[in-house]
Amino acid sequence: MNTPKNEHYSALDATPFTVPVVEYEEEVDTTSTIRGSIIGVQQASKYIGCNGCQKRNVQIIAPNKAICQSCKLQQLPSTCTTFWTLRILVKPETASKSIYLRLALLHLINPAFRLQTATEDDIVAIILENFQTSVEFTFGSFTYQVSELHRFNSTS
Ligand SMILES: [Zn+2]
Repeated sequence: MNTPKNEHYSALDATPFTVPVVEYEEEVDTTSTIRGSIIGVQQASKYIGCNGCQKRNVQIIAPNKAICQSCKLQQLPSTCTTFWTLRILVKPETASKSIYLRLALLHLINPAFRLQTATEDDIVAIILENFQTSVEFTFGSFTYQVSELHRFNSTS
């Protein structure tokens, strides 16, 4: 219901770009890669995606009922996709200084995660239990957002 109004506003408020957008994006769009292990989790936030409009704005109001706050679609919570975003502390193997990264690819850490029913405590516990697992992270040098992740299972 608010969308048309908001769009109207942003159109009114829009000012011409004085900086070429493409050039700016190219400048910051570099990635770095480190290999290390996750030694801390600072934030774990859960988002539930709507089956209709795909926005991550669904609220579970009962065990068998969830409502999208954007399009008002009523749906079963178990049919919705769950997303997590984490702020993790990674200890690199070759550097002494640990680094904070933003991670939204939780299923790559552990495909067995039951994302829909997991609590923040579950997520944090499982991640920290795997602190010995070596992981290679590719992330934006500017955003620290992880874009790729590869696990290396120790061969014992
Ligand atoms: Zn929706």
